[in-house]
Parts: sequence; C-alpha cells; structure tokens
Amino acid sequence: MSETHSGGCVCGAVRYRVHGNPAVGTVCHCTFCQRRLASAFAVLASFRQDAVELLQGQLTEYEHRSDESGRWLRMNFCPKCGTTIFHTAEIRPGIRTVTGGTFDAPDWIAIDRHIWVQSKLPWVTIPSGAATFQQGFVAPPPADQDLLSVSFHNS
Ligand SMILES: [Zn+2]
Ligand SMILES: [Zn+2]
Repeated sequence: MSETHSGGCVCGAVRYRVHGNPAVGTVCHCTFCQRRLASAFAVLASFRQDAVELLQGQLTEYEHRSDESGRWLRMNFCPKCGTTIFHTAEIRPGIRTVTGGTFDAPDWIAIDRHIWVQSKLPWVTIPSGAATFQQGFVAPPPADQDLLSVSFHNS
C-alpha cells in the first residue's frame, strides 16, 4: 500500500484521501487561480484520478470555459462552505488536481515548479533554484511520462 494523505473542507462535510505522491506539485501564479481561490497563488497537487478518493460528503461542480481556447476546467467545491477541493481540466485527461491547502498537513507536497510567474504578485519571492515558467504549457499527449510537462490550465 502506498502512503496516504487526507484532507477536507473548512466545514468538515467533505473529506478525501490520496494515495502516493502527486505526479506533479505546482505553484500557479495565474490571475485565474488568484481569483478562484481568493489568494495570491495556488498550491496544486496533481494525481491520477484513481489515486484520489472521496471519503465523505458531496461536491458541487462549476465548469469554466476559457475565452481563448474554449476548453473547460471544472472546479469541485463544498456546497456548504465553498472550499475548492479539486479541479479537473480538459487539457489533462485522467488527472485530478487537489488544492494543496486542503490537506490536513499540506507541508508534505513537494513543489516542482512555479508557473504563470508573469502575473506573480510583487511581494511573492520564489526560492532560488526553483523551476519557473512565465506562462503555462500547451498540453502534449497524456502519456505517463508527459505529466511533468502538461499544464492544467486552459492555455
Ligand atoms: Zn465544507
Ligand atoms: Zn492557475
């Protein structure tokens, strides 16, 4: 059995568990994540769908479509307290991304890269040596080895 980590929403109605480590850990500084998570940036842990288990509660889904690409991104949040728990994206089939701050102990997630640095807030300092990208990526085919180079953004 792989290691598991649990998390949930603010009100406690939604609980989930993930198996193993994320395929990729990302900090996203895009304006879309800033707004949808009401924060300075997003901490995103992306897993294969089957590594993410909803243990308790129900999630409401909101589908956002990119003005530019027309691709969808579906956010899943607790209908009671509004905490955004997961998202999935058309550009990343088979991947479910967990909002890092919803883990009971978020400090275990390793961050592989910072993306959309062009819209980073001026008081955010990225650690030296971190992989940074001014924007996201255009999606290559969803093969296992391509996970690290796929954006979950509708670029
Ligand atoms: Zn809740
Ligand atoms: Zn983003």
